[in-house]
Amino acid sequence: MSSSTLLEARELKKYFPIQEGAFLRKKAGWVKAVDGVSFSIRRGETVGLVGESGCGKTTTGRMLLRIIEPTAGSIIYHDSSGPVDIAELDRKELWNLRRRMQMIFQDPYSSLNPRMTVQEIVQEPLYCYGIGTVAERKERAMEILKVVGLDPKFMSRYPHAFSGGQRQRIGIARALILNPEIIIADEPVSALDVSIQAQVLNLLQDLQAQFNLTFLFISHDLSVVEHLCDRTLVMYLGRIVEMADTEELFDNPLHPYVETLLSAVPRPEPGFRFDEQILEGEAEGYQGESKGCTFAPRCRYAKAICHEEVPELREMASNGSSHAVRCHLAESLELKGVGSAICRDAAG
Ligand code: SF4
Repeated sequence: MSSSTLLEARELKKYFPIQEGAFLRKKAGWVKAVDGVSFSIRRGETVGLVGESGCGKTTTGRMLLRIIEPTAGSIIYHDSSGPVDIAELDRKELWNLRRRMQMIFQDPYSSLNPRMTVQEIVQEPLYCYGIGTVAERKERAMEILKVVGLDPKFMSRYPHAFSGGQRQRIGIARALILNPEIIIADEPVSALDVSIQAQVLNLLQDLQAQFNLTFLFISHDLSVVEHLCDRTLVMYLGRIVEMADTEELFDNPLHPYVETLLSAVPRPEPGFRFDEQILEGEAEGYQGESKGCTFAPRCRYAKAICHEEVPELREMASNGSSHAVRCHLAESLELKGVGSAICRDAAG
């Protein structure tokens, strides 16, 4: 593992019980929301975690901070004093480590306490960790509000006085105030208008450069991930099905699910039209031991082996970079990326 690795998930799992009966609540099985996910994030990198609703991406992000307790697996944080398994920390150790790991939530309306002023919201993490005097905390809150593009003179107001984009900036200021090393951003722009999305994305990019932040960016929107992320991981039904550098993944997808997702990404180039593939059926909650590939019921390339054997996540790159895929037929399929045949000249 690279010496610059900051965070690693190793065989991370989260199973939720399915209960039956109105009174006895008997356990009838498990929903495998996340089923053996492994990846690493390097210092200063922005990693995108994408997939459709219910694929387990938000659960994975929350497990990294132990907002949700994992069923199994390790979460290794590479501290200056050595690796620490977050999954094994007691409450006090976890509390101390969380200073360096912060989260930006999806909904800027429900993630801010409506009864607290902006100043109270932004400086609350300092108060909780007993950092600074009252005057120093106020000073720091003013400073960080300026960094995220908000005027500190409005910080005595309540969240309802702000627009969605401004509220998300308040959430970002709260996440930044402790000088974290890594920020897990869970769909941070999906609740915002498109014009505001671009502003918030540019702000996140600027902040990363300014503070050398590391980001895990969770999103269902591939065009946002393409714009922002160095590497992209794609999840389907609780498992990573493909991961690679973003440019490589968008140009040369190796998994049929990723090809379908990419076919729906709008392109800004004039003269191109879309060749969108429709994904038939729905991803159903993954409950049991799967026989074969979980994508097989929706895959237009599926062969007999796909219904019999579970594909492993395999490394496919031979040029020193990394491109891993979970597909039996990855070598033989010629899939279309966004830059190639999917976007053809409208006249051609
Ligand atoms: Fe499709 Fe088979 Fe590959 Fe699964 S293993 S993605 S069913 S081709």
